[in-house]
Amino acid sequence: MSLSSSDERLIRNIKSKKENIISTPLTQEQRSELSNTLRAQLNALNRQVEAHRQVLSNDDYPQAEIEQNTEDAAQHSDDDEVEAALSDIDRQELSSISRALERIKGDDYGLCVDCGRQIPFDRLEREPQTLRCLSCEAPYELSSTP
Ligand SMILES: [Zn+2]
Repeated sequence: MSLSSSDERLIRNIKSKKENIISTPLTQEQRSELSNTLRAQLNALNRQVEAHRQVLSNDDYPQAEIEQNTEDAAQHSDDDEVEAALSDIDRQELSSISRALERIKGDDYGLCVDCGRQIPFDRLEREPQTLRCLSCEAPYELSSTP
């Protein structure tokens, strides 16, 4: 028994509808997977910061390098040096990851802050701290480039 043409049309409709759905809400599993990723990223960053701190507090720091940096180093306290070791990018990363970890508990996590649409899971998987869908991110990145 073969499908009637109206059945086939129905199936095609269902298929294309499925492909058009971009706003599938995150499942509980996806949410916990993303929050694990975020926590791992946060740990990795914290370890990097800790490593910087240890290098800076290490007395065996090569003398030559200290002499090269004397001009800078002399003006900073230890805390400033740790701060300086944390680049702006690290700081931004740290704060966006911890913000994402806060948001992931709520319903607005994974929704684009600009258009309110669900950000596709594969994008969140790559960048769980992202705030925008791809189409909103593109112009945003362009405009924020110095
Ligand atoms: Zn958007």
